[in-house]
Amino acid sequence: MKYILVTGGVISGIGKGIIASSVGTILKSCGLRVTAIKIDPYINIDAGTFSPYEHVVPHITDAIQEWVVKQAKVPVDGDETEPQVCVIELGGTVGDIESMPFVEAFRQFQFKVKRENFCNIHVSLIPQPSATGEQKTKPTQNSVRELRGLGLSPDLIMCRCTTALENSVKEKISMFCHVEPQQVICVHDVLSIYRVPLLLEDQGVVGYLSRRLNMPIETKSRQML
Ligand code: ADP
Repeated sequence: MKYILVTGGVISGIGKGIIASSVGTILKSCGLRVTAIKIDPYINIDAGTFSPYEHVVPHITDAIQEWVVKQAKVPVDGDETEPQVCVIELGGTVGDIESMPFVEAFRQFQFKVKRENFCNIHVSLIPQPSATGEQKTKPTQNSVRELRGLGLSPDLIMCRCTTALENSVKEKISMFCHVEPQQVICVHDVLSIYRVPLLLEDQGVVGYLSRRLNMPIETKSRQML
């Protein structure tokens, strides 16, 4: 099983859901069996009615990992075959207190499942204040630093911006976030969110994921998307 974790930085509502589903769509169009998990960091446990002999909390990160592995195997799309890829969207913003147990669970998980089976897509914001019109990289630099501080390293940094990323901005993100320029993906505002899979495909996301996760996949024509 290949796991693709989608995290978000800077603000909520940044487009993690659209990016997670777009990644799933392009991988499905390459013939892979894809499933998805959406994690919202709320834990509904009533401590008041809890047996004092049960201790959930120290094992919470194990429980999260076991649950992810179990859910990822559930057949989807009406067939009985186990999925090959699981795209996991972690709700909220990295650094928020409520998502900490999940981030820690995935930090441990990446070593458990081995490098070729786990990667991280970090969705971040490139604001463009109207006063200067400049695309600013600092919030993204800070959010990647925060992510790394928690033990996850982004394989792809997907930059949400109002207009297409300038080349110099892409290079700056690559330089200061310690990734290759091809790992910086521009996801600017589009009129229809159905264009997002095409944006990702055009920037080589399928090829990158196929190499990074060691998945031999054929690139199908874009009519499939
Ligand atoms: P999150 O999962 O981070 O909360 P969503 O994926 O739900 O964010 O996206 C938030 C809103 O932004 C949605 O209304 C979505 O349609 C819109 N959106 C996301 N990506 C784009 C984009 N590239 N262009 C235009 N609108 C977008």
